[in-house]
Amino acid sequence: MSLIPIYCDICCEHIANAEQDGLRLPLMGAMFQPREAGFPHPIPDEATWEFMRCPFGPHRPFIEEHLIQVGPATPGNRPVLDLTADEVELETDEEQPESNEPDMEPRQPQAQHTGERRPKRRGRN
Ligand SMILES: [Zn+2]
Repeated sequence: MSLIPIYCDICCEHIANAEQDGLRLPLMGAMFQPREAGFPHPIPDEATWEFMRCPFGPHRPFIEEHLIQVGPATPGNRPVLDLTADEVELETDEEQPESNEPDMEPRQPQAQHTGERRPKRRGRN
């Protein structure tokens, strides 16, 4: 478990720290800790990405929910953690066994229509 610094996308301030392993989608305020002991909690625990606000302004600290800035940005370099990277790997792992299976589904015999009774009709009168 490693604590990483979290930076605001908009004002580039160091707004919080977070356990790297604890960050996942959907983001919740509870994933973020004060940047130093004694600082107020940066984001309310129950806040989802849509309701997160940077402590330094009324803006959202993350422009995209899955891209979190984890270090001071310098010209030409903005260190970000892409939270979708792990998910994609997991999905492909799960899909692999499925793709090995043949495309056909086992067909179950259809239930016979026993309840259907047709009155006999004389076709011609
Ligand atoms: Zn900000």
